[in-house]
Amino acid sequence: MLFSQLFCPTLREVPAEAEVLSHQLLLRAGFIRKASAGIYSYLPLAYRVIKKIENIVREEMDRAGGQEVLMPIVQPAEIWQKSGRWVVYGDEMFRLQDRHHRDFALGPTHEEMITTLVDADVHTYRDLPLLLYQIQNKYRDEIRPRFGLLRGREFIMKDAYSFDMDNEGLDKVYWRMYETYSRIFNRLSLEYRVVEADSGAIGGNETHEFTVLADTGESEIVYCDACDYAANVEKAQCKVSAEINYNEEMLPLDTIPTPGQKTINDLVSFLNIPVEKTVKTLVYVQDGELVAAILRGDRELNEIKFKHVLGCNELRMAGEEEVRQACGAGFGSLGPVGLKLKVYADQEIVTAKNFSCGANKDDYHYINVNMGRDFEPHAVADIRSAVEGDNCPLCEGRLSLVRGIEAGQIFKLGTKYSASLEATYKDQDGKDKVFVMGCYGIGISRTMAAAVEQKHDENGIIWPVPIAPYHVVVVPVNIKNEEQMTAGLKIYRELQTEGIEVLFDDRDERAGVKFKDADLIGIPVRITIGPKSLQENKVEMKKRWEKDNELVELDGVSARVKEIILPLLHGTIE
Ligand code: ATP
Ligand code: MG
Repeated sequence: MLFSQLFCPTLREVPAEAEVLSHQLLLRAGFIRKASAGIYSYLPLAYRVIKKIENIVREEMDRAGGQEVLMPIVQPAEIWQKSGRWVVYGDEMFRLQDRHHRDFALGPTHEEMITTLVDADVHTYRDLPLLLYQIQNKYRDEIRPRFGLLRGREFIMKDAYSFDMDNEGLDKVYWRMYETYSRIFNRLSLEYRVVEADSGAIGGNETHEFTVLADTGESEIVYCDACDYAANVEKAQCKVSAEINYNEEMLPLDTIPTPGQKTINDLVSFLNIPVEKTVKTLVYVQDGELVAAILRGDRELNEIKFKHVLGCNELRMAGEEEVRQACGAGFGSLGPVGLKLKVYADQEIVTAKNFSCGANKDDYHYINVNMGRDFEPHAVADIRSAVEGDNCPLCEGRLSLVRGIEAGQIFKLGTKYSASLEATYKDQDGKDKVFVMGCYGIGISRTMAAAVEQKHDENGIIWPVPIAPYHVVVVPVNIKNEEQMTAGLKIYRELQTEGIEVLFDDRDERAGVKFKDADLIGIPVRITIGPKSLQENKVEMKKRWEKDNELVELDGVSARVKEIILPLLHGTIE
């Protein structure tokens, strides 16, 4: 491809609306353009990357026995009404009507569609198991479309669905998909972690997320430095660290005035005690009823875990007025002693001794509080968020915390959709049985942005070779110099015949401008043809991820390029 003909409108300025790096770089490097909030066009370089990601995904899905289909984006409301999600999906669903005023949705996902499709034509156990997938645009009217392709309203997804006779079959395909996803992310050459996740709104039981590591990611994950344990913070189990206060004698309970001391920090400095000796009390409303959660002053309540413990549908923090009415004091002075609400204690409170907390009377606190003696909780549970340095729940190791971007997720759905949609097959005994299903998604466009979040420097993108839009850019320093152009074009053609994807920068621009663009768009190898080296029949070759150039003999160029590119072309897969 000649650079002079490439549609790649680079920008000098960082666009004001772009908050995160991948968004800024993809706009600046001429990869994407916005049509509306969360809705983008993919320009040629971006679409080359997208197609490469898609093809890796496709090859691995096929290898795992998947069959590619393409289902409609426009889906009739009836199937969503039948599963109950026409209502549940709420405002995130794009809805439309046809000329007869019939309701439709733009598919945010395809469980309803595929279950209906398979049910109509798969009648017996002999047709099972079945694994179908597609790659297409999805539509979700996200509350906050942001971060460019990371959270779009129209985005490209690979979604796969498995149909089995029983849980054993599901288990098999689930772990096959786990392995397939690992191969995919290895082939993409992205650094990632597989984490246990919360099954959230889709329901079902087992689920893992494939998280691409990046400091800017929305997901927080913990992993053990000693074993394989890794989990989303929403899900990560906490093991009680037993070392604190365990052997202390119980001291007499006492009330002390604490005027104006509202926060945990206030209390710590006012009483001059370590934060581990404080307990905070949070009041929530669960399905209409007020409940309290208590945990160590420096811990964060994990609302998702708390919700699971309560087993409720709706959970929100109580307002100050509600709290005052129920507890007799405001936010800064609450505590479990004498509280007339159900108290859920984090498991760490069990071993805490002689701690301080609010006295349910404004401007007063208790000191030397002990669970069992001074109050009995309704229940004890693991309800705090894991933090850096926590004990690993599985071994003696410690947990580290990193951020990442959820790029893929695998889910055991079980019979959630086949039951509500009455999708059945006949088993060996001729009995009707519902399908046991799994679903498996990868955000293709999000993965492209995640790659940029992970692989870049101050000059631009550094594409991993397997998904780079081109492998090599050939840059003659001066296009008016015939020698340079002849040598450059020769290399360009030679590389093309070798199957290397190459750009030839034939633009009448200063060398500095061309170098900047090559770095910005992130081409892995740059070959510079300048007057000095050419006198010695050499060119300069530079890897995007290294600082230094190397000089290469003119007739050794394609061998050297292949030496660099080919070993990286298939990622870290053996
Ligand atoms: P999130 O929690 O980030 O909203 P999700 O759990 O809703 O994601 P799934 O329904 O599992 O996502 O969709 C499968 C994949 O599709 C995700 O792993 C992600 O890579 C991608 N994806 C989901 N929502 C978006 C979006 N708004 N923009 C881009 N990609 C998305
Ligand atoms: Mg979502």
